[in-house]
Amino acid sequence: MTTITNHMPTKELQALDAAHHMHPFTTQTELAARGARVITRADGVFITDSEGNEILDGMAGLWCVNIGYGRDRLADVAARQMRELPYYNTFFMTTHVPVIALSQKLAELAPGDLNHVFYAGSGSEANDTNIRMVRTYWAQKGKPTKKVIISRKNAYHGSTLGGASLGGMSGMHAQGGLPIPDIHHIDQPNWWSEGGDKTPEEFGLERAQQLEQAILELGEDRVAAFIAEPIQGAGGVIVPPATYWPEIQRICDKYEILLIADEVICGFGRTGNWFGSQTVGIRPHIMTIAKGLSSGYQPIGGSIVCDEVAEVIGACEFNHGYTYNGHPVASAVALENLNIMQEEGIVDHVRDVIAPYLKTKWEALVDHPLVGEANIVGMMGSIALTPHKESRATFAADAGTVGYMCRERCFANNLVMRHVGDRMIISPPLVMTTAEADMLIERATKSLDECYAQAKKEGLM
Ligand code: PMP
Repeated sequence: MTTITNHMPTKELQALDAAHHMHPFTTQTELAARGARVITRADGVFITDSEGNEILDGMAGLWCVNIGYGRDRLADVAARQMRELPYYNTFFMTTHVPVIALSQKLAELAPGDLNHVFYAGSGSEANDTNIRMVRTYWAQKGKPTKKVIISRKNAYHGSTLGGASLGGMSGMHAQGGLPIPDIHHIDQPNWWSEGGDKTPEEFGLERAQQLEQAILELGEDRVAAFIAEPIQGAGGVIVPPATYWPEIQRICDKYEILLIADEVICGFGRTGNWFGSQTVGIRPHIMTIAKGLSSGYQPIGGSIVCDEVAEVIGACEFNHGYTYNGHPVASAVALENLNIMQEEGIVDHVRDVIAPYLKTKWEALVDHPLVGEANIVGMMGSIALTPHKESRATFAADAGTVGYMCRERCFANNLVMRHVGDRMIISPPLVMTTAEADMLIERATKSLDECYAQAKKEGLM
């Protein structure tokens, strides 16, 4: 067998990859035909591929490398922890120092009385925990019929059976017989695509009130919780109208249902506060975390739980756990990541410096002939591509055709920008400088120009 290294020709690496590696969210035959892009190293906000291209990573990996690539301190902490205690579990009345320290830090950073952490290896696993935790909570309180979790269409909450069921992606539900029972989906607050003639404010209120209608239809005695991302990420960075979240909070309070904020993307500075819940002004009982918790340097996620829920769950044996709950290396790296964020004032940098700077430039993209709306909160933004802004029209092609075309132009111009249908989205590392933000806008504009020309040529607009 040959030893596989960074120095092998790209074509050989691609052939081996396609032969043995099944990729997530990918048509494998298509990948085999064109060859995967091989990423070999990364530093700051840039990734490098096997052809030597330096690409500006406008997505921070998968929305996760918040403090940027190439942090020696995290590598050092991981190596130290691996030598000292590479693994031990937290079952059977045992614990270890990294998980104690990380939990204390998270309780300090999380708002209100969110003081308790149940760990997982990922955001999906954490949401599976949440399903079982909220149902167990109500059963413990003598209300075992309160099982239904209300979520939203076009939400993303993970790929496990539970996470994908909570999510509202029809393409995911279609594969594998989802959702699992007692998950109910209401409509999303996506004004651009679904707002019709209503003002964003009217529409936001109306979509929030669907929660109340659902509770009344299902019966208050059946509803356990509502789960949502403060700002939908994978659904296309959908920024809800200002009227949306206050109404959702009012309804959760009125019917005393648990509110779960999925902070997997919004958490850890992405929106200009430590948590997206603070940015949109809500008081969740549980927050799902992952990604930015370790800036992606180690796989770790979890649920941060309020005093009341933790107390009720704590009074029974919660028959739930993963081998890697509070993994020592992942915990040590996550803690060091949070220390770096605090020492370097990265959340302040987002709120006061880079997000306001990027916002002005990002929102100006709305003047491009291909762009209908441009939204951004903190360091997560989206633009809607359209052939006709005033009517918010869609293209004369399958949804996503022009978005895909634009993404390909971005790659060719050394920028990672993702597309969700015909929305383009960004979520760059939080440590981005103003010069790097200029570069992002410059490359995005060039890509939009090229995509516009191509779409016109192909008769799509
Ligand atoms: N929730 C949200 C809001 C997410 O964006 C994601 C991942 N994109 C998940 C959950 C699932 O996290 P993971 O991929 O770590 O399982």
